[in-house]
Amino acid sequence: MARDVDVAALVSGIRDGRRAAVSQAITLVESSALRHRVAARELLATLAEQPPATPAVRVGISGVPGVGKSTFIEALGIYLTAAGHKVGVLAVDPSSVRTGGSVLGDKTRMAQLSADPNAFIRPSPSAGTLGGVAAATSQAISVLEGAGYDVVLVETVGVGQSEITVAGMVDTFLFLTLARTGDQLQGIKKGILEIADVIAVNKADSESGAGVDRAVEARAAARELAGAMRMVRGPKEWAPPVITCSGLTGVGVDDVWARITAHREHLGEQGLLAKRAQQQLDFTWSLVRDELLDRLRRSESVAAVREEMSAQVLSGKLSAPAAADLILAAYDESTD
Ligand code: GDP
Repeated sequence: MARDVDVAALVSGIRDGRRAAVSQAITLVESSALRHRVAARELLATLAEQPPATPAVRVGISGVPGVGKSTFIEALGIYLTAAGHKVGVLAVDPSSVRTGGSVLGDKTRMAQLSADPNAFIRPSPSAGTLGGVAAATSQAISVLEGAGYDVVLVETVGVGQSEITVAGMVDTFLFLTLARTGDQLQGIKKGILEIADVIAVNKADSESGAGVDRAVEARAAARELAGAMRMVRGPKEWAPPVITCSGLTGVGVDDVWARITAHREHLGEQGLLAKRAQQQLDFTWSLVRDELLDRLRRSESVAAVREEMSAQVLSGKLSAPAAADLILAAYDESTD
């Protein structure tokens, strides 16, 4: 994107559903260059003038590496495009931020879905912080919606904060897990159960060749997990269903979709709008926090006192609160 961006042309390309325009627009919202940020704001503002008649279904999908996310997303994506949907797939992969490599890997694994003209797959942006990746992804959702994608799946791994971040940009959060019972259930992070709207015990098939009927195991695990969910969530309005499926054979994938749809119906039109509005407000503050931190890091006045402050805290000469005051005073000085 060496030349200046022609936002109007980009918008009309997106509205026409042209893949190259969608791709270019996502690159634009991922860019941290100032002039790209300005163009990105303009692009999103223009797209927002004509929102889709029916808001797209935004689904977060999470689970540990190996649980079968990409296999499942491919199966779900193909099921949905066959039913006439246009499906966008995005990813939030915090490992790509730290290492440049990624846990989610490149999405060529979804070979069949990648070749589907009604699907658009985009790997996780790999630059910046989790906050930066989240901001880019959230804007990429709007680009996809503008291009007529009526289902957007956002994949993330069960690492750190990424699920909470993704939960803040989708309508429904699907957690994929494997058949685990008893003590193994403890291994599932409580935070996940708190944000999951639908839980699916994946690999409920006999394809592993282990001689056991995984489907039976999965159903038993689902029952146990449903019990655990009731303890965590209490008698809430929406009781997250725990069901079984196999991304590999496709069995139960339709049921997962039915549950996602049911969750959305449960939210209702007003509930959905209220949820999205609240997400936007939370997102605003997270952007402000990220930007402030960035400014703090870039501040020369802060840099001037940082080393001395660190040495004093490490040697016990300065307390943490006093050191924090020092840093903030240095920062305030630079902004006066
Ligand atoms: P991800 O890391 O969560 O994206 O998982 P993948 O989709 O890459 O799958 C990890 C491994 O599990 C691969 O070897 C898949 O073939 C296998 N796998 C994925 N889904 C299923 C399933 O539904 N049943 C069985 N038996 N294996 C699966």
